[in-house]
Amino acid sequence: MKRKLIILKIAIAGAGAMGGRFGSMLSTTENPVTFIDLWAQHVQAINAHGLLVHTDHGDERVHVPAYLPQDVHGSFDLIVLFTKAMGIAPMLTALKPVITPQTHILVLGNGIGNIETISRFVPKDQIIAGVTVWSAALNGPGEITMKGDGGVTLEALGSNEAPFFKQVVQVLQDAGLKPTASHDVLAAIWRKAALNSVLNTYCTILDCNIGEFGQLPDHNAMIDGVLSEFSQIAAKQHVHFDAADTKQLIVAQFPDDKNGLHYPSMHQDMAKGRKTEIDFLNGYIAKVGAREHIATPINAMLTALVHSKEKLNELQSSREKVATPV
Ligand code: NAD
Repeated sequence: MKRKLIILKIAIAGAGAMGGRFGSMLSTTENPVTFIDLWAQHVQAINAHGLLVHTDHGDERVHVPAYLPQDVHGSFDLIVLFTKAMGIAPMLTALKPVITPQTHILVLGNGIGNIETISRFVPKDQIIAGVTVWSAALNGPGEITMKGDGGVTLEALGSNEAPFFKQVVQVLQDAGLKPTASHDVLAAIWRKAALNSVLNTYCTILDCNIGEFGQLPDHNAMIDGVLSEFSQIAAKQHVHFDAADTKQLIVAQFPDDKNGLHYPSMHQDMAKGRKTEIDFLNGYIAKVGAREHIATPINAMLTALVHSKEKLNELQSSREKVATPV
């Protein structure tokens, strides 16, 4: 029997590496896709030549219209948010004119606290949250690399039985994004955030890749310190969190044929002089710990160290500018 054609008007808000991947894959379905991004050069490049995408099967140009947030008009059924965590509030503020009571927001980015941020803009039953193990890299304006396999785990904060949620799952399925509906997405979000709070943070501070971190004699103590504080804060917030299972997942990344040779995204952000997502990883645990009077000194110290490296980047780049002869 032929399936009823469902058309969703989709916006990708934050069309960097992951937004570019999701937008490209979604554009292969019958649903119209629009890219929205704050980076003017990137928007111009996409509109001039299409988004250049390097895939496992070769290169292609994906022709999807791109806009700066202030230039978008009309409304959308689904906004797929793929800014960094600290970009969510500014992006949604800019998009207020195109968000209606029918607009749903899908958030799959890393970090804890994204749902709270989005709840300031739309009611919970317009939010779909999740995690993804797809990956991608933004090579420069108008160009991404999206290789390898992945999947999406997601849950409607209203109800997974809502017809709109079922449509979204079907559209992701049609795009080849391999969605799985979950009934405990918070557990998945915290598990991924804890993994990121160990591997991204230590590899950034120690300037090493994941395999090298796994060879350090003290890696067990370093992992356990972060995860035990995660356990306490998760318990306080009634989130299901299994430290032993998360540690197993972390250790499974060490071999070279897994992610051992990989430098996590926070390491790459730091190397490029960009702000990191630390406040939504270890920083979230430290912030809630301080508020609830639960000791979280390890996550607090790691957050301070990453912020210090961000600040040093800033100081050193302005010193370089001063030292450059005119
Ligand atoms: P990204 O850095 O590629 O893009 C995020 C935003 O930053 C975009 O709006 C982009 O245009 C802008 N940006 C990037 N470089 C810029 C530059 N040089 N100048 C100006 N603006 C620039 O981020 P991403 O990797 O797509 O991550 C989005 C979310 O998904 C994050 O929460 C991340 O942790 C998560 N995530 C990423 C991956 C991955 O493989 N990249 C995998 C899983 C989850």
